[in-house]
Amino acid sequence: MYEKIINGDLSGDVRIVDLRSDTISKPTPEMREAMFHAIVGDDVYGEDPTVTDLEQKAAKLLGKEDAVFVVSGTMANLIAIMVHCNQRGSEMISGDNGHTFRFEQGGPAQIAGVQTAILKNNEDGTFSLDELRNKIRKNPDFHEPVTSLIIVENTHNMCGGKVLPLDWLEKVGNIAAEHNIPVHMDGARIMNAAVYLKVTPKRVARDVDSVCFCLSKGLGAPVGAILAGTKSFIIKARRVRKALGGGWRQAGILAAAGLVALDKMIDRLAEDHAHTLKIAKAIVDVNSKIFKVDLKAVETNIFIMYLDTTKLVARDFQHRLAEVRQTDPIRVSVKASSRDAECVRFVTYWEITDKEVDLAIQKIVFVIKEFEDTFKE
Ligand SMILES: *Cc1c(COP(=O)(O)O)cnc(C)c1O
Repeated sequence: MYEKIINGDLSGDVRIVDLRSDTISKPTPEMREAMFHAIVGDDVYGEDPTVTDLEQKAAKLLGKEDAVFVVSGTMANLIAIMVHCNQRGSEMISGDNGHTFRFEQGGPAQIAGVQTAILKNNEDGTFSLDELRNKIRKNPDFHEPVTSLIIVENTHNMCGGKVLPLDWLEKVGNIAAEHNIPVHMDGARIMNAAVYLKVTPKRVARDVDSVCFCLSKGLGAPVGAILAGTKSFIIKARRVRKALGGGWRQAGILAAAGLVALDKMIDRLAEDHAHTLKIAKAIVDVNSKIFKVDLKAVETNIFIMYLDTTKLVARDFQHRLAEVRQTDPIRVSVKASSRDAECVRFVTYWEITDKEVDLAIQKIVFVIKEFEDTFKE
């Protein structure tokens, strides 16, 4: 059913440009080569040298004492939450558009037994510092849960890949420190943030106690994420990972791709950022009344296009974008994702080259103009 929706009428000459997510990205030829040659061992025994190498390099990159290689960003976040919120009756504070709150199946509640208190996310992925201060439970009496963690997300996925301002992060860190509460950064795309800000990943993660990032998104690795923090935090994280079934054996096969990702795929993220901006600008240039992009908000490899829901909903647009009709002059199928009825999300990654960008623009502009014509009368 879903395949039908996204593929439409695809005849042989149709090119597909998949902008749904950077998770679509495939491992590079160099990664496959490194995986083939990887020296491996049993990582549960701590004997996989490639995993250890990846963990140490990632820890250094993030400016943390130690790191652990895990299956996914979701697992990295859950482990961080379980280590930080290790007493029953814990509460963590998150933005209402945060990935851990919206898209991790309530894992913190379901598995960790942790309640989430939410703050309204601003459009740039931040939340109000005054509201944060209010949400923190000071000297909670025996009725109340105990505030045990603050989570921030960088770049912010649902806020269109926005980069958290460094001075805001510092303020969150200061408030947290005042109340002796740790901060975890869901930095699934922290490397995009660092590249955008032209600072080191270490600088971006400076004011948080723990941080994770995905190797399998814009960095192109097939599987895996890194969770980093203090030595004692990572010792506990390894225990929790094992309990969650995340102890793995010759994981060096995967870590080898992760090492290539760290080495070769970070600096080039700037190309992805330029590509999203180019697509976003092409949409703005149509000057549509129905479809809008705020160019100031386009910072990294994700952007969001808003549409007038009195005319159509995101699904209508996505469908037309992916479909190629017999009579269509442009033989391109573009796949995009949506957050809700009024937003379509586009994401770029290493396989979206200049050529794919141009094809995508042709199709997107074509479809926008077609809808404009439809609603002109
Ligand atoms: C993708 C994503 C995750 C989860 O990562 P998976 O590897 O897909 O489990 C967590 N946080 C953010 C912000 C993400 O975009």
